[in-house]
Amino acid sequence: MTNKLFTDFPFVPEIQNAIKKTGYETPTPIQIQAIPYLLDNRDLIGCAQTGTGKTAAFALPLLNKLAGRKKNMATKNAQSLILTPTRELAVQIAENFKEYGLGLNLRMALAYGGVAIGPQIRSLHDGVEVLIATPGRLLDLMQQNKVSLKFVETFILDEADRMLDMGFINDIKKIISNLPRTRQTILFSATMPKEIEALANSMLINPVRVDVAPPATTAEKVEQIVMLVETAHKRDLLRHLLGKPEFKRVIVFTRTKHGANRVAEVLNKNKISCDAIHGNKSQNARLRSIENLKAGKIQVLIATDVAARGIDIDNITHVINYDIPNVAESYVHRIGRTARAGTEGIAISFCDVEEKSFIFDIEKTIKMKIPVDKKHPYHSVKVEQAPLISKGKAKAQIERTTNERHNKYRKLRKVFGSAKGSTRK
Ligand code: AMP
Repeated sequence: MTNKLFTDFPFVPEIQNAIKKTGYETPTPIQIQAIPYLLDNRDLIGCAQTGTGKTAAFALPLLNKLAGRKKNMATKNAQSLILTPTRELAVQIAENFKEYGLGLNLRMALAYGGVAIGPQIRSLHDGVEVLIATPGRLLDLMQQNKVSLKFVETFILDEADRMLDMGFINDIKKIISNLPRTRQTILFSATMPKEIEALANSMLINPVRVDVAPPATTAEKVEQIVMLVETAHKRDLLRHLLGKPEFKRVIVFTRTKHGANRVAEVLNKNKISCDAIHGNKSQNARLRSIENLKAGKIQVLIATDVAARGIDIDNITHVINYDIPNVAESYVHRIGRTARAGTEGIAISFCDVEEKSFIFDIEKTIKMKIPVDKKHPYHSVKVEQAPLISKGKAKAQIERTTNERHNKYRKLRKVFGSAKGSTRK
């Protein structure tokens, strides 16, 4: 627990070299806390969200464990399994494994849905040391007898709370029932709802528990601002902000897929380079958009919560909440995109009358008041003076106006085609 440098950990030289290449100097708190126990082959439950360095916290000890092994893999078997909720996250974890495992010559396979299964079947055929998978596709592969989990020695369940939110809990239980009883199990979750605690109790043996940066403290690293603006002016405010030179690499969050598409259309029309990612986009399109933002080919990525989960892009200058999420946890996840591994960023939330109650709720969760910026040209006194309504009422009201807007938009598209329809909100 007293390690301060990566060189203090007893990693094999190949891993030490790979870490040096990444340029990381000091381990993050979750790494300092978790790595010694994981090297000892202990079960571990980690309360940490993305941005804390948790991937390296589990990847480095696992790679170290695999490094010393003789490579006698049985056909279709996986020696370790990392289960993660989204395809983006799976790809990112795989990138990390490649980076840290450079020089170890390990076999790795990725299994996620939305793409052809054939290449995944082939990559599993000769057995792999590391399998990174999303639950649905993994079950598919298991049912087709294309992979066996009989010899899994290390099982990592990543973002367990998100798995629960996305309805994967039964899939996960099915997968766990196919794992051998003797294994190392590691569970990471940003929050610990009761169901996750129960799952952890049923599958971990005498686990070490490490907690880092509960959402409230992560939020403190981000400069947060609320802008009070009527929904009808949100697009103008967005354009205004994106015209400023400091808004270099921005993620804009919308509540719905349609919202994301509409914002993208408005920005495209205004020659602001952007891509939208959400559940209706193909896996390849989503990955391409993320790459475009990383490479600086686009200024703005517009995303829904699920699509953006786990996205790891360095140097995001601003996160803009075009809509305020009604779940405080989502807010914390969103703004976490701009404060990754110690860097600081700015998160701006566009708030209309109904959304004031969501902000109120968020402020309770993060235990701080978010300052209101009244100096922008679309500041609304009406929103400022509106009384707080209950969260339930606010949700119902937003639902209603979203549906109305969506129907109107659909009708306009029918009449005028997409170009004209896109000018409408
Ligand atoms: P994660 O929480 O695993 O999503 O990691 C968040 C980001 O932190 C990724 O971009 C990692 O590459 C980066 N990272 C992980 N460990 C360190 C470290 N010790 N020092 C600096 N950056 C790190």
